[in-house]
Amino acid sequence: MNAANRMAYDTLVVGGGIAGLQAALDLADQGFRVAVLERGASIGGKMIRLSKVFPTLDCASCITTPKMASAAHHPNITLFTACDLNTVTKTGGRFKARITQRPRYVDVAKCIGCRQCEYVCPVLVPDAEQGGFSARKAICIPFSNAIPQKAVLDPEHCMLCGKCEKICPTQAVDYLQQPVEFVLAASSVVLSTGYEMTDYRDKPQYGMGAIPNVIDALQMERLLAPHGPYNRVLRPSDGKEPDTIAFVQCAGSRDHSMGVGYCSRFCCMYAIKQAMLLSGSLPLAEIRIYYMDIRAFGKNYEQFYQNAKAMGIEFVKAKVARIDAAEEGRVRVRYEDQLEGGALDAEHDLVVLSMGVVPGWNPRGIISVSCHTDQFIRQVQPKRQPTWTDQPGVFVAGAAAGPKDIVDSIAEAGSAAMQAANYLKAAAAS
Ligand SMILES: Cc1cc2nc3c(=O)[nH]c(=O)nc-3n(C[C@H](O)[C@H](O)[C@H](O)COP(=O)(O)OP(=O)(O)OC[C@H]3O[C@@H](n4cnc5c(N)ncnc54)[C@H](O)[C@@H]3O)c2cc1C
Repeated sequence: MNAANRMAYDTLVVGGGIAGLQAALDLADQGFRVAVLERGASIGGKMIRLSKVFPTLDCASCITTPKMASAAHHPNITLFTACDLNTVTKTGGRFKARITQRPRYVDVAKCIGCRQCEYVCPVLVPDAEQGGFSARKAICIPFSNAIPQKAVLDPEHCMLCGKCEKICPTQAVDYLQQPVEFVLAASSVVLSTGYEMTDYRDKPQYGMGAIPNVIDALQMERLLAPHGPYNRVLRPSDGKEPDTIAFVQCAGSRDHSMGVGYCSRFCCMYAIKQAMLLSGSLPLAEIRIYYMDIRAFGKNYEQFYQNAKAMGIEFVKAKVARIDAAEEGRVRVRYEDQLEGGALDAEHDLVVLSMGVVPGWNPRGIISVSCHTDQFIRQVQPKRQPTWTDQPGVFVAGAAAGPKDIVDSIAEAGSAAMQAANYLKAAAAS
């Protein structure tokens, strides 16, 4: 590691989702120099993968893309993508972050985002960015509005045919690229590492991974997105338009036996949103939501729920016990009716699981901040200073501190930026 690989910033923002981008923009607008560290190949977090957002049904990428572009073009913000944070140490009030940038096998300084490499690549791989429903190439720009618009080569699937290297007009493809380690210094840190959905492939009762027409809610977001895999909602097994669709709430959350005892908070609202969008795109479909309680906690959320009921979406108060494959690609849901009592079965063409939500990252062994028992980053003063961690100079924003919707994530990011700015000013004055 040489001196050129050392960089100094006022704030290091870890996580380039909507919370991290908002915190970075608020700090950068005040004149602070900000580094945004993102482990993915693009910034944007989960929000850039969503279709529309509750309760306004605004287009998600119409809100996220301008923020991503503002961060990318801001003179005070530097983006580092495809990066892993190894350690953060603190000496004399300065943080030193050791980072590894994974190889993209494409020189980002040379890549002009022309996609010639992508067009000639002969390898097709299921595209996780589209919920696995469509294919991408082994070298590609991660998704249409990714930032940076630079190709990334997937070494696991590349067969080294050399076509991308030959066609590239700027000689950007570099099969021999190695990981780069560098050190970044900052006077404060904002942790905005978000959340992940639980993976229940090893728990058979919900059929995830085993029954093709059982999908998770992020996959449904892609089916509903205007730039999604099919431009319409089709069930995965046979491409048929589903006539009956069920949403299963608390599929693994509020359930200690599944490892997630807490409420994942935004699932009720996104299931209602998806059900409303579905009833628009498939007006004849029967749409049912199996729920334990509806938690419509935010401004205008209760009205949103009432609107869904008025649109004919059926709400069944029930705890789903098992999901099994039935004939002709249908899915059988066994549930306990919590109003009438008794165990009942119903069949649907497509089932969407509102899975539990877990932290996107664990700071243990990397940076000295503590977590709650649920493993989300601990807010030491959740009521008075919700963005403070137990390490002075390190702040937390968005779903990194617990499941949170976009409105709350953005508000909290603004607060984290203000707290970080105050901290930086106080440190400069002392
Ligand atoms: C199916 C579904 C639909 C939803 N619909 C809505 C909706 O309509 N309206 C609404 O208000 N909310 C909705 N939400 C919730 C919304 O996704 C969250 O509120 C929002 O994404 C939180 O933003 P965030 O930046 O905190 O986290 P994230 O979006 O998770 O972003 C975190 C970022 O940090 C990165 N990261 C993680 N760890 C590291 C690390 N160690 N180093 C570097 N980078 C790291 C991740 O790669 C990611 O880019 C929905 C959620 C789901 C699952």
